[in-house]
Amino acid sequence: MESMISNYIIIVSISGVLSALLALFAYYRRTDFSGINAFILSSITSAIYTFGFALELSGSTMQEIGFWVKVEYLGMPYIAPSSLIMIMHFVGLDRLVKKGLLTALYSIPFISTVLVWTNDYHHLFYQSMHFREGAPTPLIDIVMGPWYIVQGSLTFGCMLAGMCLILWQWNRMKRVYRRQMLTIFIGQFLPALGAFLYLMNMTPYGMDPVPVIMSVTSTLYIWAILSRGMLTAAPIARENLFESMRDGVLVTDRKDTLVDYNRAATEMLEGLDSSAIGRPLAQMFLTAGKDAVDYVMNSDPLLSEESELAWNINGETSYYQVRSSPVQKHDGHLAGRMIMLIDVTERTLLQAKLLQLATVDSLTGIYNRTHFMERSRSLLEEAVGSKRPLSIILLDIDFFKSINDRYGHQYGDTALQHIVGVCSKHVREGDIFGRYGGEEFVICLPDTSLKQAALLSEAIRDSIEHSEVYTSSGPIHVTASFGVAEAFREPISLEELLSEADHALYSSKRNGRNTVHLSSGGSITPLTPV
Ligand code: GH3
Ligand code: MG
Ligand code: MG
Repeated sequence: MESMISNYIIIVSISGVLSALLALFAYYRRTDFSGINAFILSSITSAIYTFGFALELSGSTMQEIGFWVKVEYLGMPYIAPSSLIMIMHFVGLDRLVKKGLLTALYSIPFISTVLVWTNDYHHLFYQSMHFREGAPTPLIDIVMGPWYIVQGSLTFGCMLAGMCLILWQWNRMKRVYRRQMLTIFIGQFLPALGAFLYLMNMTPYGMDPVPVIMSVTSTLYIWAILSRGMLTAAPIARENLFESMRDGVLVTDRKDTLVDYNRAATEMLEGLDSSAIGRPLAQMFLTAGKDAVDYVMNSDPLLSEESELAWNINGETSYYQVRSSPVQKHDGHLAGRMIMLIDVTERTLLQAKLLQLATVDSLTGIYNRTHFMERSRSLLEEAVGSKRPLSIILLDIDFFKSINDRYGHQYGDTALQHIVGVCSKHVREGDIFGRYGGEEFVICLPDTSLKQAALLSEAIRDSIEHSEVYTSSGPIHVTASFGVAEAFREPISLEELLSEADHALYSSKRNGRNTVHLSSGGSITPLTPV
């Protein structure tokens, strides 16, 4: 029995050391967790209590034991209220932690401490203290005074309230934080159970098991702090806000390792789940594609940056505005960065649609006149500026009206699409091809001389002549007439150039159609095929 007691003293002392260590760990842990001070206080007071208890057990006279009991009460009454305050911070009720509540929670423990130290004068805390009969070592029994019950009720009340808060918030928690919640819950529950059994006289030799239990809970906390990042977690209120955001958010540490993300982000990045915590940020973007990975790898975590990226989710392309901004700790040091993903797919697609409507001809899919003019005007400016040639081909379908009349407007449309198909095969990269009017088309050819443009026109003319438009009442043969002009003198406007091409086209129409005429220096000549 003696050796059992000395083993017990050793375990209790270890428990004290662990509590002290825990306080140190918590103190030196750089954290944004607002409840850290309450946690440190509960660890320090636990350490005082357990050391006092160990010394009480090793005491041999009533005086010695009485002294160490007083020491215990410098710590013990404050543990449960501090833990409750820490939990309130953890579950996001920190706004309720105000002066009034703190005074209410700490005044009873303070009175307890005073009453224990002055107990001999009033016996309000202990009515009496005496050595236990027949105990193998000096163990003391007490008869509770009225304030003992007040203090006991506060301790149990705080522990119970803490556990209730955790259970209340359990379902709102993301799985990653639940482990930390469970750790805190066990840290509350086990000592409460021990204290309850002790009060019910259900512990071996009637000894207080709480200090021993605290060695288990302290170890658990230390483990959770070191390996699970406990005490760095955002409180739940912030967490709820974070979770309810429509924009995806990823948070990294200074090494660009993922430390947190919200639910919206999981819908934007395939494979993002709790197993991703602790992995490099770039890995999360692998499924999104090369552009996204490049952005993450190359953006500077110290700078606020914004970029628009497209990536695939479940086979569909989505567009995101990706904002990266540094995250600083309270002391101004860089903690990592936050990447915000804003889904701009709807807006981007609408913009693309509007752009298409504004620039493309709906029947043929080539540029409309306005957009053709805009693009060609800048090409002409460049050509004039760099003294390089630029040519224009204007073509008009021959007797198109009769196609409409004979086959109907619908086949007229088909013929227009057919002509565009034929021309497109000849149009080169860099050329601008547009619908100039009803059955009139225009091609702007940068870096192309009149002669080259004439040859291209002839090739197109020939292709059209030898092609057919298929209709239900048989094939239709179509031809087109061409006018070509070159910007060879300065300055010339696009309108002037088009007018020259139009004159040449008019000559083609007058000279039998299905031909190419060139406008050169004001004179118009038919193309002689080479
Ligand atoms: P020419 O050889 O002298 O050019 O004779 P044409 O019949 O081709 O010339 P005209 O300018 O008299 O007729 C052009 C016709 O093109 C008149 C118009 O109804 C038709 N047209 C214009 N736009 C469209 C269209 O989008 N679809 C169809 N089906 N017809 C169109
Ligand atoms: Mg016409
Ligand atoms: Mg015509």
